[in-house]
Amino acid sequence: MGLNKVVKLDNNTWSIEELGGMVYAFLLVGRERAVLLDTGFATCDFRKYARELTALPIDVINTHGHLDHVGQNWAFEKVYIHEADLALCGEHSDGAVRLSYLQDLLEEAKVPQGLARSKFVVRLLHKFCYIPQKKDLIPIHDGEPFDLGGRTLRVIHTPGHTHGSICVLDVERRWLFTGDTVCDEGVLLHFDHSCSVAVFRESIEKLKAQSGAWDKMWPCHHLKPLDNSFLDAYLACADEILAAGKPDGAAATQYLHQYGRIALSYTADKL
Ligand SMILES: [Zn+2]
Repeated sequence: MGLNKVVKLDNNTWSIEELGGMVYAFLLVGRERAVLLDTGFATCDFRKYARELTALPIDVINTHGHLDHVGQNWAFEKVYIHEADLALCGEHSDGAVRLSYLQDLLEEAKVPQGLARSKFVVRLLHKFCYIPQKKDLIPIHDGEPFDLGGRTLRVIHTPGHTHGSICVLDVERRWLFTGDTVCDEGVLLHFDHSCSVAVFRESIEKLKAQSGAWDKMWPCHHLKPLDNSFLDAYLACADEILAAGKPDGAAATQYLHQYGRIALSYTADKL
């Protein structure tokens, strides 16, 4: 399994962790069906891991359309995603987009250009960048329920990180799967396809209002699980950004606002 591992959360729930824990997908098994929350960047075979854990039919729900969450969508029959992320998911399933994103990551990690753009590395990257396209994604909406048989999931639309970001409430377990909407360390709002800080704040406020329904939050990156105090931290972080008002920089200038152990990235034009 190497860089990837499967971690048991309880008898019917696992996290499948890719590339040394860079991103987590979650397998939620009910009595009649199972749901795989996200399909990773897909440097490993999520379908195979999931198949080893359950013989039930497996549907996929994407927490949002980013490339490190939708990589193996093509391997599943039914894939659900919020309608506002349909286009983003298509874009992030495109080989050239995935390749350039990964090369940027290598650059950020200070991998020498000569190596990052060498034939060997490019060929290696091609393998998991050029993936089959999943065309028939099924759009989902706020409040949509999924009945897995004795296990109910409910979609909560939380725009911010992307327009179609969702959290998924695992009702009987009182768990919330937060995708990239609530994570330790930080949430990125600086992409062209992110919402404003104010919209993200509304989403966190919406979660806070419903937070009596869960005891733990399971994000797709970094520390897990998280307690609900992270909601307060994100509200306070967003409040500080909004109170400071529009920064002087050009519209597309990117900022990072730290609040304790979490942070928000954003651009000057999208408060
Ligand atoms: Zn993301």
